[in-house]
Amino acid sequence: MALSGLEIFKKLPKTNCKECGFPTCLAFAMQLAAGKVELEKCPHISDEVKEALSEASQPPILKVEIGVGEESFAVGEETVLFRHDRTFVNQNAFAIIIEDDMDSGKIEEVVKNINSIVYERVGQILKLDAVCIKNKSENREKFLKVVGDVTSLTKKPLILVSVDPETLKSAADMFKENKPIIHAATADNIDFFIAIGKETGCPIAVRGKTFEDIAAITEKMRNAGIKNLVIDIGSRDFKDDFYNQIILRMAAIKQKNRLFGYPTIVFPDEMTDDPLKETLIASIFVAKYGSIIVLSNTNSQNIFPLLIYRQNIYTDPRRPMQVEQKIYEIGSPNESSPVLITTNFSLTYFIISGEVESSKVPSWLLVMDVEGQSVLTAWAAGKFVPELIAQFIKKSGIAEKVKKKEIVIPGYVAQLQGELEEELGEEWKVVVGPREAGEVPKFLKEYIT
Ligand code: SF4
Repeated sequence: MALSGLEIFKKLPKTNCKECGFPTCLAFAMQLAAGKVELEKCPHISDEVKEALSEASQPPILKVEIGVGEESFAVGEETVLFRHDRTFVNQNAFAIIIEDDMDSGKIEEVVKNINSIVYERVGQILKLDAVCIKNKSENREKFLKVVGDVTSLTKKPLILVSVDPETLKSAADMFKENKPIIHAATADNIDFFIAIGKETGCPIAVRGKTFEDIAAITEKMRNAGIKNLVIDIGSRDFKDDFYNQIILRMAAIKQKNRLFGYPTIVFPDEMTDDPLKETLIASIFVAKYGSIIVLSNTNSQNIFPLLIYRQNIYTDPRRPMQVEQKIYEIGSPNESSPVLITTNFSLTYFIISGEVESSKVPSWLLVMDVEGQSVLTAWAAGKFVPELIAQFIKKSGIAEKVKKKEIVIPGYVAQLQGELEEELGEEWKVVVGPREAGEVPKFLKEYIT
């Protein structure tokens, strides 16, 4: 179990020197116990105490890294139950299932689909994360061959699933450089998997039907020095598994029970044969609390909504997504091209720039830093107001790039037109653009004629 704030406090220097950024050692200890601050922030802790406190300074759910190279990812490291309490840290990973009795052509097709699913939204790349290979054939040679074939087709991290520990040992030995998850250790074969974990360094999935089973396995693993664990408490029944995910997360975060403080893996692919239902189930695990979510299909109508939903859940509510304040050139504009202005909320920028691009009218898009707020929010907060907009336009350098001194403001803030013209001076004219982004192409085409 993790140390309490008072237990940590007893080990600190108690000088209240404030160098950690907290007014007292006790305040620092409380934050450390809550996993909200790094132990390194106190420069006065001896190595001995550091070692004793290192566990307390780790997040209640440990971070586990899967795979190697540019496609590797991390899960876990969460510190809160609800996104609005602070933020979620490492987004869920989506894995697609491949069964080793599928024919090689089908396997190649699925892996190519997995690789090809890449979307860009508000400046972020959305994609699938892993391939889960199941030893459905229960044939070791076949399984190893399929794993080898898949690794030649993708760099995505792997989850290797078999009911035969010897097959998993062979796979872990052969593919340990790829750092796949080995699924799964159970109460019956724990010593065998401790050896695999120690020899290969691969993350181990631990499977149990009850919380007592899981606690017994993770405790034994921890005592053996293996913390690279992923919990599978699934009965493959949605209701049970949903409940289990919540209990695990609460035990790890609220009770600080280290035996449950690991990322989890869930298998919606085994809960239903209906692709739409699978997507709905997966979406629930995105929010609560499946760290790795295994799916059966790569249809874009199923995957795309999940990727978008995950992106929204895993943005940091304390930091609005924003783009850089600057003049964006869309389609090689010249001195006669229209000049538009908007705010630096990512979604606003990408929607407006997308519509300007689709209009095929080369334009200058001025993006003003309003701390990542949308146009109306920034206006209501006093950040997108005539005085500040005029200051930005004058400093931006746009006047040197265009002959026609006209600027198009969003239709939602049409009321700023007169005051902004006053702030900008006689040289500039302010034009009110459309309220909705979808009307931008039509507006621009008419505007330049
Ligand atoms: Fe206490 Fe260390 Fe913080 Fe100083 S830096 S107040 S000694 S916890």
